[in-house]
Amino acid sequence: MLFYYGKRYDAAKAGQRIVKVGCDRCGCEYFYELTRVGAGAASAPYGIGTQSAIRQAQAMSEQDVQKRLAHEADLVPCPSCNWINDELVQGYRRGRYRGLSGAALLFGILGTASALICGWYVSIGPPADRGAVPYIVVGGPVVVISFACALLVLRSLLRRLIQPNRRFPQPPKLPRGSPPALVLDNATGALCVAESRRT
Ligand SMILES: [Zn+2]
Repeated sequence: MLFYYGKRYDAAKAGQRIVKVGCDRCGCEYFYELTRVGAGAASAPYGIGTQSAIRQAQAMSEQDVQKRLAHEADLVPCPSCNWINDELVQGYRRGRYRGLSGAALLFGILGTASALICGWYVSIGPPADRGAVPYIVVGGPVVVISFACALLVLRSLLRRLIQPNRRFPQPPKLPRGSPPALVLDNATGALCVAESRRT
């Protein structure tokens, strides 16, 4: 019997950048600090190449954080009118339910591979069972891929439920940990926390 074991290494990398926003409603210019953590994982089969696996996990986490900082956003309302621009809403949605994307991809690949391997075993097994091969080889991947697509539809529906401007012009309900809006202090040239409008 063949035994396989591998040691898994996880890495995390935090990053941040200052994002400039021009409010689509009132034209006010403000900033906020976008902070994200990237994740990476790699394994060393039979404990061989551990340093390489660690480096690979670190490189993946660095790549992940850069991608997240480039494509995601936080829900930071305009300090003058409480509006949250569509690009911020879209960016925030992209960062939510990321686990469902990974689960759909993993399930699609592993499920299809399992169905094909199972079909191959049945095809070399007892002749009486071979009639099931087309059902396994075609039907298996169809079911698996349909389920993966359903996960992606669910992700899309859940993301669409994020509608922070629903109460506009009232202040929106923000997720815990949302960064504050920053405005440029013309006297010092530094960014400082803006006084939010409360209506
Ligand atoms: Zn505004």
